[in-house]
Amino acid sequence: MSSLRLVMGDQLSESVSSLRDYQPGDTVLICELWQETTYVRHHKKKLVFMLSAMRHFSQELKQHGMKVKYFTLPDALTCFSEAIRTVLSDASYQKVIVTHPGEWRVLQELLDLKNQLNIPLEIRKDDRFLCSRKEFVHWAEGRKQLRMEHFYREMRKRFNILMEDGKPAGGQWNFDKDNRKHLPDDLIPPLPERFEPDKTTRQVIDTVNQLFPEHFGDTDNFCYAVNHKDALRALDDFINNRLRLFGDYQDAMRQGSPWLFHSIISLYLNIGLLTPMQVIPRVEKAFNEFRIPINAAEGFIRQVLGWREFVHGIYWLHMPDYPKWNTLHSRRPVPGFYWSADTKMNCIAESVRNTHDNAYAHHIQRLMVLGNFALLAGLAPDKVNQWYMEVYADAIEWVELPNVHGMALFADNGIFASKPYAAGGSYINRMSDYCRHCYFNVRLKSGMQACPFNYLYWDFLDRNKTYLGNNPRLALPYKNLARMSDRQKELFREDARVFFRSLDKEQYSQPALID
Ligand code: FAD
Ligand code: SF4
Repeated sequence: MSSLRLVMGDQLSESVSSLRDYQPGDTVLICELWQETTYVRHHKKKLVFMLSAMRHFSQELKQHGMKVKYFTLPDALTCFSEAIRTVLSDASYQKVIVTHPGEWRVLQELLDLKNQLNIPLEIRKDDRFLCSRKEFVHWAEGRKQLRMEHFYREMRKRFNILMEDGKPAGGQWNFDKDNRKHLPDDLIPPLPERFEPDKTTRQVIDTVNQLFPEHFGDTDNFCYAVNHKDALRALDDFINNRLRLFGDYQDAMRQGSPWLFHSIISLYLNIGLLTPMQVIPRVEKAFNEFRIPINAAEGFIRQVLGWREFVHGIYWLHMPDYPKWNTLHSRRPVPGFYWSADTKMNCIAESVRNTHDNAYAHHIQRLMVLGNFALLAGLAPDKVNQWYMEVYADAIEWVELPNVHGMALFADNGIFASKPYAAGGSYINRMSDYCRHCYFNVRLKSGMQACPFNYLYWDFLDRNKTYLGNNPRLALPYKNLARMSDRQKELFREDARVFFRSLDKEQYSQPALID
């Protein structure tokens, strides 16, 4: 009984469930599709990364003796259903096997196809995640609020990670308080290892430049790993050279330093070049061998075992309604400078430039600069989500949506976070050197030269008072707002009005691409 086994672009792991019981006579189907490459205008480096990784994966499967049917752009087909039907019309199979997709949209497509095919289509669990969708539903049942910290502690216990005699290693579950240090000027983070494009990647670069010239970003200096072996090397490079200080400077930002002490492995994890269980034990081992301190080990493992799995659970628990919420009724379009970097706000310009150059920005740039501005300025969640999906190489909907819609924009009614991640300029100034290079003055609260984050922060709290005013975690800022004189309030409201007037004018122009 031969099977057709579909492997999607984010399922490039040899251990993926759809390949598990491969038999001679089966065919593996991998396809570059117009729908998947264009449903948002993905950054050119994101396309190069994914398409090159797919081609390399297909070559590896063939080397292992598997039969692979591979559709290549530009001759490729539109969507998964069309690709499956095309292969089924040429040869006979008894069954189609696929691993559960990472996006609701694709799941619907597969379910529709399943109803139409006259052979079975089996959708298998994606067990590269450590907490299945079912287990997450079970964990969430009966809880008033879903908090990552509770989930994370259970995952630590369940998988016995960083545990000593049933207790958390180092005597506490969470070392976040130790992980907010300002990066000293004389500390230079080691650069991540680069992977020069081979022949396959160079061919993909040509294809992407020909077919998607209008997409954001460029393909210059492409340096990401595109196969499992190199992704493991990138992980080891991080563990050996940057992980030791990952915890300390996890929230830091610096002009001209896009990578800092981050791992840059989300893109590999999200398409299957690495799995969580190839990452977590290596980090734990480095801790057990006294190569890294507990705040680094715990801080990092919390991201992968905690946040990543939690976000995955939240997405599937709340789809398809999740993106429909717009709790704060935010409506403003995304300004052109999210593409062009043409703004006097240096923190934003720098984060957009990094995003443009690398299809990457680290967490604090995404959350506390670009996300924070989008929140304070009331940018429309659907448009902001689309922007994040386009520009980051690691953006797959299951992870992008809860992070943007829930964590950054607080658009989900507080499902994800207990309070909005809103902050004025002083937070950005504390965690970076951006303000030193900025036209605006971070210490000024009002006036032409004042940092826009300062007055936008108070204006945000003021205009959302009805909804946020009773949030116990915002009690202090609301108390400070109440203490302000009428004159102070009038000043920040007026500054915000002027700022929004100029921002709204900008919306009418087509976003000019940075290049
Ligand atoms: P590190 O800082 O080295 O962290 C290690 C790993 O932990 C990451 O590789 C990632 O796998 C995991 N991780 C850390 N935080 C999160 C999180 N909040 N959610 C899920 N996994 C996490 N991550 C994506 O993978 N894809 C996205 O599209 C994405 N969009 C984001 C949008 C916003 C607004 C925010 C605030 C966060 C977003 N994140 C996203 C989470 C996080 O910012 C990235 O995973 C991280 O910056 C990737 O860089 P890194 O590999 O160097 O991570
Ligand atoms: Fe950003 Fe304000 Fe600092 Fe300028 S002064 S970099 S706008 S926080």
